[in-house]
Amino acid sequence: MRFANVGNRPAVLDGDGYVDLSPLVPAHRLGDERFIWVVERWAEVCEALADGRGPARRHLDAGDLGPPIPRPPKVIGAPVNYRDHQREMDAANTIDGLGVFLKAPTSVIGPGDAILIPYADRRTDQEAELGVVIGRGGRDIAAVDALDHVFGYTCLVDATVRGGEDRSTRKSFDTFTPIGPWIVTPDELDDPNCLRLRGWVNDELRQDVTTDAMVYAISDIIEYASSVMTLEPGDVIATGTPAGVGPLTPGDTVTIEIEGVGRLEVDVAFRSPAGIG
Ligand code: MN
Repeated sequence: MRFANVGNRPAVLDGDGYVDLSPLVPAHRLGDERFIWVVERWAEVCEALADGRGPARRHLDAGDLGPPIPRPPKVIGAPVNYRDHQREMDAANTIDGLGVFLKAPTSVIGPGDAILIPYADRRTDQEAELGVVIGRGGRDIAAVDALDHVFGYTCLVDATVRGGEDRSTRKSFDTFTPIGPWIVTPDELDDPNCLRLRGWVNDELRQDVTTDAMVYAISDIIEYASSVMTLEPGDVIATGTPAGVGPLTPGDTVTIEIEGVGRLEVDVAFRSPAGIG
């Protein structure tokens, strides 16, 4: 299934329509928490839909889609997780030496939103990545069990200011984590470890890889991250970017397409008219 945010309500997409799931969510779960509730109770939600107890199907307008998890509990990033990107950055280490990093949950945006560049005189890059959304939380999750904890997969851009600050600063500006256009549940994919991922800036294809080239596979990232911190439903993992990162300019359009998952487009603009954040 495809889980989405339609008009700021959790929804399941169905062809050119959608089913609004918000009537299933208890009234005390407000706003962005409703999306997390659906992820937590996904099995129950699917039962309700199968029983016909779900709400009615409605017509979808593409412009209604928002970030499928508007406020994840955490956004965890995998640094330097493709060898070709390690070479282009001349990076000595991968997760082995760097661990994982956190991006601010407030950096999340959705389809049709814009990455806002904070500094006119510094480089901000696109990083096209497979996003993994946690369904069942846990600590010390073994790699062999890790994919059972996945709610689904989405397209993700890990926007990044280049420079000397800690990654969590350079990657946490508001708007720096576009996700979407929806989340595809694992039953829709043959193998998340073998998906073609491509990233464009305008018409220029900058990134093109298959996810089997990750240094730490999805399950290895989950094992490592959960050895450090408890994973929770709705956490988003940015699994790393292949070679081909490059500077963004206001007016650009960033597009990421992942086979079997979807295609996400966002614009690029300055954070303020003066271009100074
Ligand atoms: Mn990244």
